[in-house]
Amino acid sequence: MSDDTKSCPVCAETIKVAAIKCRFCSTDLVALAASQESQAESVLFIGHPSVIHSAWQWLAVACTLGIAFVYYWIQSLATQYEITTQRVRIENGILSKSKESVELFRIDHFDVLKPLGMRLLGQCVLQLRSTDTNFSTVVVFGIPDLEKMADTLRECSLRERTRRRVTTLVQA
Ligand SMILES: [Zn+2]
Repeated sequence: MSDDTKSCPVCAETIKVAAIKCRFCSTDLVALAASQESQAESVLFIGHPSVIHSAWQWLAVACTLGIAFVYYWIQSLATQYEITTQRVRIENGILSKSKESVELFRIDHFDVLKPLGMRLLGQCVLQLRSTDTNFSTVVVFGIPDLEKMADTLRECSLRERTRRRVTTLVQA
């Protein structure tokens, strides 16, 4: 194989490096590269939810002279989020951990809720729902710029669905 040729990623025939379409299997190499690029997973957020994410919690902290804060702090430490352009992972518990992982393409609804207590602090809850009945609703909160992230996740979900359709067409 010389410098200006490569093998087609689909049919493995030798083609020009600059080719945008394989002359053997007619694969659109530009679309293929784009779909592979969108397949790459990148991390949007890793960490714990904020300790205080609702005004009612401040009220509880005040009423218990700060004891509630310790409770909320432990609660926050016990939850770990890992949100990427492909999936949402939630780890719960300090001693015994439970893990939840959902792939974005399976989610149909990205609902942003703003109960009063959260609205007062500029916070919100993100509910991830699916029409699939086996899928239980996943709730994410206490993350900075969550509303903006909801839009990003929605786009990632749509892109992932499109990509899956494109990949299925290429394989078919
Ligand atoms: Zn080919």
